[in-house]
Amino acid sequence: EPAISIRGLEKVYGNGKVALHGIDLDIPRGSMFGLLGPNGAGKSTTINILAGLVNKTAGSARVWGFDIDANPRNAKASIGIVPQEIVFDAFFTPFEVLELQAGLYGVPKAQRRTMDILRAVRLEDKANAYARTLSGGMKRRLLVAKALVHNPPILVLDEPTAGVDIELRQQLWAYVRELHSYGTTVVLTTHYLEEAEALCDRIAIINHGRVVANDETRTLLATA
Ligand code: ADP
Ligand code: ADP
Repeated sequence: EPAISIRGLEKVYGNGKVALHGIDLDIPRGSMFGLLGPNGAGKSTTINILAGLVNKTAGSARVWGFDIDANPRNAKASIGIVPQEIVFDAFFTPFEVLELQAGLYGVPKAQRRTMDILRAVRLEDKANAYARTLSGGMKRRLLVAKALVHNPPILVLDEPTAGVDIELRQQLWAYVRELHSYGTTVVLTTHYLEEAEALCDRIAIINHGRVVANDETRTLLATA
């Protein structure tokens, strides 16, 4: 069974905007998968439906084998989402942000897990600093830590390097590759072909709410 399996997924927003016109997509376990498309294509809508943040209009999806309607909490617990926007309460510390998240997911030995994940993203020195004092790169790493604190098998990054300078982009790419090498299934959305090409073994191209291509990266680029 794929890590993520989507069938006939449709989304019509309250204002009548049709964001997804019946998407079919399988994301294999262990892959580094790119969801590539221009702004407005429907990438975030797709991710947000999987994460339980947006209600679908029609269709179905399974995450790590859990149906998002029949088993929404297990589906949600199987995914860690790194959102596009960085939003932290300025006066919370990384330790507090992560301990709270661990508590929400009922992670056993939450304090221990919090320190381990802080070390993994190399933020242990900033454990007790106010979030507002962290650099942009540190905040991004804290977002990744927050997505991973409950140990999900799938990590989803929504436009991980949007608005990020070249140096930080290289650091984030290296870090995502490292996570993938430990066995995490990684899905990222991007509107940069070069980013999908550099990181992903498979790419689905989405445009105007439809999947218009879906193949191994090298095959896709050879025919492009
Ligand atoms: P749903 O259909 O999931 O209930 P809504 O259509 O009610 O979602 O919209 C949710 C919120 O997003 C509303 O507050 C709406 O104003 C806002 N919104 C509207 N258009 C856009 C857009 N193009 N991009 C992002 N947010 C939008
Ligand atoms: P992407 O992530 O590929 O940039 P989105 O999934 O954010 O695309 O948006 C898909 C389409 O749905 C766009 O036309 C966008 O304006 C619209 N949209 C997104 N969110 C909302 C919303 N809450 N209400 C109405 N329209 C929305």
